[in-house]
Amino acid sequence: MSKILIIEDEAKIARFIELELKHEGNEVDKAADGREGLDKALTGQYDLILLDVMLPGLNGLEVLRRVRLESDVPIIMLTARDAVMDKVSGLDAGADDYITKPFAIEELLARIRVALKKHVGVAPKSNKLEVKGVSLDEDRHEVTVNGENVELSNREFELLHTLMQNKNIVMDRDKLMNLVCGYDYMGETNIIDVYIRYLRTKIDDRYGIKLINTVRGVGYIIKED
Ligand code: CA
Repeated sequence: MSKILIIEDEAKIARFIELELKHEGNEVDKAADGREGLDKALTGQYDLILLDVMLPGLNGLEVLRRVRLESDVPIIMLTARDAVMDKVSGLDAGADDYITKPFAIEELLARIRVALKKHVGVAPKSNKLEVKGVSLDEDRHEVTVNGENVELSNREFELLHTLMQNKNIVMDRDKLMNLVCGYDYMGETNIIDVYIRYLRTKIDDRYGIKLINTVRGVGYIIKED
């Protein structure tokens, strides 16, 4: 049994799909506009989402984009006939499939089965970052090097997190200061250099790796080999 969300403003179509899906043994939830649909989708409790493109409130493509920032739940778009752009944009924005209205319910059910099957075994989106043997787990607020735990203060963690998230991009000191200390920070301007020194002592020096590079006159970068 799968839990499926139908985001569709045409009540008759939504009801029709709902009955068919329930008949197949699925649990079904509905939303009649884009905003409600997005809110429900972001709860993360669905195995699959059917998403109409033309929706009041927030159109389907926008809902799709926002859901994709947080989740890789299978999404099948419902598009109007001949709306080629919608299909292309939908697939570009991360839809798994689309079906053109009007559709035969058997075809929709078949596509749902395919999308669900493809998704089985896909690992949940991980909140782990990894560079050069250094692994940062956002959920656990934990940093390990070669499996060994490294104790970091909150700001050290935030700084490392920011650099790892933006790996291969030079981050200048001002930007790092805003991101790590907040925009209203009024303290020492060399604070970032201080934290970088702490991080290097705890990671680079201790484990003999070159994790954080200085870009003279600009800032810092973590580069992937
Ligand atoms: Ca519609």
